[in-house]
Amino acid sequence: MRLRNIPGADAAITESVYCIKSPETHKGHWQEIFPSQQPLHIEIGMGKGRFMMDLAAAHPDINYLGIERYSSVLLRALQKMEENPLPNLFFICMDAADVAEVFDHGEVDRIYLNFSDPWPKDRHAKRRLTSRQFFARYDEVLAPEGHLEFKTDNQDLFTFSLEEIPEAGWHLDASTRDLHHDPVLNEGNIMTEYEEKFSSLGNPICKLIASR
Ligand code: SAM
Repeated sequence: MRLRNIPGADAAITESVYCIKSPETHKGHWQEIFPSQQPLHIEIGMGKGRFMMDLAAAHPDINYLGIERYSSVLLRALQKMEENPLPNLFFICMDAADVAEVFDHGEVDRIYLNFSDPWPKDRHAKRRLTSRQFFARYDEVLAPEGHLEFKTDNQDLFTFSLEEIPEAGWHLDASTRDLHHDPVLNEGNIMTEYEEKFSSLGNPICKLIASR
């Protein structure tokens, strides 16, 4: 998702108290930006932030960080936070490739990836957020008992992701190719913007949970 360039998006992000600037300076100290010290969950490629905001409202006992690389997209999340502030949620405008420069070893308790860009060409496989190259980056930051949750409606990307998990030395804990009809994995499911859009078109939603 890349919204057309929105004039003033970069300035609005610079001014917003909800967007953390120079995120690498918080490495190892992320708990200090939140009012309470509690587990840290992040979403990488959060888009307009609805999933993060619904999760943060439902789980005040968890701290959340939403990561998005485009300021024009992140701006929408910031506008929603101005209307409905949540103490346990902040945003970062950055590329996920830099995740290990921003979080310390074991600093993240859970990683969410939702409807990540599929990068369908083989030569772009390493750009997929579920490639072994990205799993190696998540290895650097995920807590020993932490895990990763991934949802998509893209069957090819889901198959690729299932294959990458053992290649990356990770373990598949659970998976389904029809989340909304899976009584166990769908319990407490919070829909993302893309999930709502694609499931309303009749696309089944795939989900996997992986850990080390
Ligand atoms: N997660 C949201 C949802 O499910 O509704 C948005 C999905 S959208 C298809 C994917 C988002 O991931 C886009 O906003 C895109 O800019 C962001 N994204 C893709 N690659 C990224 C990267 N390497 N680092 C940070 N964000 C990324």
